Order: sequence, then C-alpha cells, then structure tokens
Amino acid sequence: MGKQGAGSGKGRGGDRDRGISRRTLIIGGAASAVGVGLLARGDLARMWWQMPGVDKPREAGAVDFKGAEWVAAAAANWRRADRPADYTIDRVIIHVTQGSYQGTLKVFKDPWHGAAAHYVVRQDGHIAQMIRELDVAFHAGNKDFNERSVGIEHEGFVDRPEDFTDEMYEASARLTARICRRYDMPVDREHIIGHVEVPGTDHTDPGPHWDWDRYIRLVKAAYERDGSTKA
Ligand SMILES: [Zn+2]
Repeated sequence: MGKQGAGSGKGRGGDRDRGISRRTLIIGGAASAVGVGLLARGDLARMWWQMPGVDKPREAGAVDFKGAEWVAAAAANWRRADRPADYTIDRVIIHVTQGSYQGTLKVFKDPWHGAAAHYVVRQDGHIAQMIRELDVAFHAGNKDFNERSVGIEHEGFVDRPEDFTDEMYEASARLTARICRRYDMPVDREHIIGHVEVPGTDHTDPGPHWDWDRYIRLVKAAYERDGSTKA
C-alpha cells in the first residue's frame, strides 16, 4: 500500500476493466438467466473462478511459503492466472501497509478495496498468504508489474523506522529468498524493488527508513542457506 487507508493507485483500473470484460463475455449466457443486475461484483468474481481455462488444480488453504498462514483475500482484489506459465515472475515488490497487520488483512478481505498483496508480514515475523503466487494480485498499481511480480506487505508506517523490526526483516528475507529460488530470479535491486519504484506509481512505500542494504544482505544469506539445504 503506502497511502493511508487505501491501496488504490493509478493504473489498477486497467486490471479490473480487463478482468470484468473478460468475465462478462464468458458468463454472459449464465448471467442473463439470473439477471446481471442481481449479481454483485463478488459473485461475478466467484463465477469467473469456476470457469474453465486457466485452471491449475488448487487445494483449499494451500500456501506457497511453508509456515505462512492462509487468509484468503477477496476475489475482486486479484485475478486468476497460471503463473509462471502465462506470465514470467521476475520481480518482488516490497510494500509497507500504513496500518496494522489486522487492519490490512481486513481491507484485503474487502471486495470493494480493489487491491491486495500476496503476502503480509507482521512485525513479529508471522506471515499471512492471501493470494496464491499463481494468481495476479492488484498491489502495484501497474498492470504489467502486477502480472510479473509477487507483492509483500510489511506491517508499519513509512515514517516510523522502529516499525521495521529484526523479526520482520528476517522473515521477509526468507520469503523473498524462496521466491527468488522458485522463479530463478537474481537477488538484487533490479529484481527486488519497492512499490515507489514501479513506473507510474504515486506511492512512496517502503520509504526512506527501509534498509535496502540490510534487506538484500539477508535475502542473499537466506538464498544461500536454501541452496545448501536443498536435495
Ligand atoms: Zn505499496
């Protein structure tokens, strides 16, 4: 996020417009039987889920990062996809929530919020996964960057350096290292970026107090540990 109380940003509409028009096309027949007017946006999104097409089998509650807690985001805040088969994943985007962990989970579960990230990291290092990495989360405010990235939110405020705890840096670095391993992504500042660096964004997170040198160092260390323990 990075703007108080709302994750909305320029460009996000592109995602939604495309999603809705495709959905409308596909479910046109079924919807007309019930009457489009009776279907809330959330219902449309749920129906889209059930349509054949980009359908990798999914297990309810499954997570991509071991130890993460599954907390489902509202279906309207992301788009079903089949990554990395349909879109190459080559970016991790770092966000700061500008609110509490619980408050962030709450807005990402709200279908009218219009945005959500794949992961939310709490200040004690606990991690919630809200959207599968297969899918495109609306977090970057830029369609291309949504499609190519995994978004990680961190509990805190950009102007409060004390919010960025050791536990949070460590947990987030382990998560990012796994993502880099999974999609064969180099651990560097070209591929691990802040929301502020997304083209066209008006968001400033993670802000000047986010310690990039430290973070990249931690990700590299976790990446090496992952490599040496893998069979
Ligand atoms: Zn952000």
